[in-house]
Amino acid sequence: MASTVDITLESAAPFVEKTPLERYVAPEKPSLIGLSRAELADALAQAGVLEAQRKMRVQQLWHWIYFRGFTEFDAMTSVSKELRAELAQRFTLARPEVVAEQVSVDGTRKWLLRLPGEVQGERPHEVECVYIPDTERGTLCVSSQVGCTLTCTFCHTGTQRLVRNLTAGEIAGQVMVARDRMGDWPGATRPTDGVVPSGERCVTNVVMMGMGEPLYNLDAVRDALLIVSDGDGLSISKRRITLSTSGVVPNIERAGAEIGCMLAVSLHAVRDELRNELVPLNRKYPIAVLMDACRNYPGVSNARRITFEYVMLKGVNDSIEDAKALVRLLKGIPAKINLIPFNPWPGSKFECSDWEQIEKFSAVVFDAGYASPVRTPRGRDILAACGQLKSATEKLSARERMALRAMAMVD
Ligand code: SAH
Ligand code: SF4
Repeated sequence: MASTVDITLESAAPFVEKTPLERYVAPEKPSLIGLSRAELADALAQAGVLEAQRKMRVQQLWHWIYFRGFTEFDAMTSVSKELRAELAQRFTLARPEVVAEQVSVDGTRKWLLRLPGEVQGERPHEVECVYIPDTERGTLCVSSQVGCTLTCTFCHTGTQRLVRNLTAGEIAGQVMVARDRMGDWPGATRPTDGVVPSGERCVTNVVMMGMGEPLYNLDAVRDALLIVSDGDGLSISKRRITLSTSGVVPNIERAGAEIGCMLAVSLHAVRDELRNELVPLNRKYPIAVLMDACRNYPGVSNARRITFEYVMLKGVNDSIEDAKALVRLLKGIPAKINLIPFNPWPGSKFECSDWEQIEKFSAVVFDAGYASPVRTPRGRDILAACGQLKSATEKLSARERMALRAMAMVD
């Protein structure tokens, strides 16, 4: 295999923004998951709750749904029997359906989730969600789209069609599914296999680093993350939620102002010429413009740094010169650097940098004052790595899918 990849301007990928197919049929009985408090009050109005009672009822439901994790209205003892029945007639508390679960030797768990609304004979509306446990924390990697609007050349999701944006309920629902599966609700039982963090909670951090570009689905991502961070419910602090973007500049400021979570930027190259090829969106929002948006990210400070992700591609972006230029580029921006070993996928034209080169590159970054910049790949045996989500299951036959479904039942 060639040790370098020839990147020329002529070969650079064009900038393509995919339009969602959006052939989506919403379920007849909608789930209440994903509704804001105001929307929940509207739903209660539909169910006949008088205005004077709505605020109190919203508080009650919020508690049962997001603090206790209940999946049935009938178990909500503080709600009158009549209202419980009325709600069950009109709504559900459905989360995305778990089609398969895989547990890695290192404890990483991957769930294949089916979303409602797929059109018969067309591609299933499925995304993956990955849980990465550590001794003291558990990080959940959440998807925002089925497919992706963009076409980054090193990313498998970029080669797929954009089927549709996830709804706020489907995004927040991924956190609920993870808590269901990890027994992460008050009084629930933890799984006995895999790794479970030592603290009170299993899901302590959320990263929007699954399938899709969150800033091309900002409204739903915002609504979901406001639910995920709500102190009366799921209660994951905004400092423990990271939104990763390939650089949708006009929405970076909005994300900071409207969500206020931590930001990660998929940089991957320090020259426009190369970034145009790796992240074609760079043709629209070049590096200088992206860096300005980062400098102005609401709330950015030394205590709230922006993470810059940099995928290590052999012979493409991994020279010592690149490392030095990276450090120069980030000067003055409160930053962390995450060097990600490239995860190859069938048909990808890139290779992961040699470990020796990653170490040399990381030494330059480390000497410039950035701590432990290399991200250890997790869940490799179950293909839980970035940019590979759904690539394995997609190739499965219907029979294999059925077998996976059955596996999901045994837990
Ligand atoms: N669309 C968003 C978030 C999802 S991708 C974004 O691009 O930031 C999450 C991270 O995985 C990004 O930094 C992305 O560049 C990286 N990634 C994608 N494919 C990868 C691969 N094959 N190997 C390593 N990292 C990859
Ligand atoms: Fe989409 Fe992110 Fe993959 Fe680029 S790296 S194609 S933005 S998921």
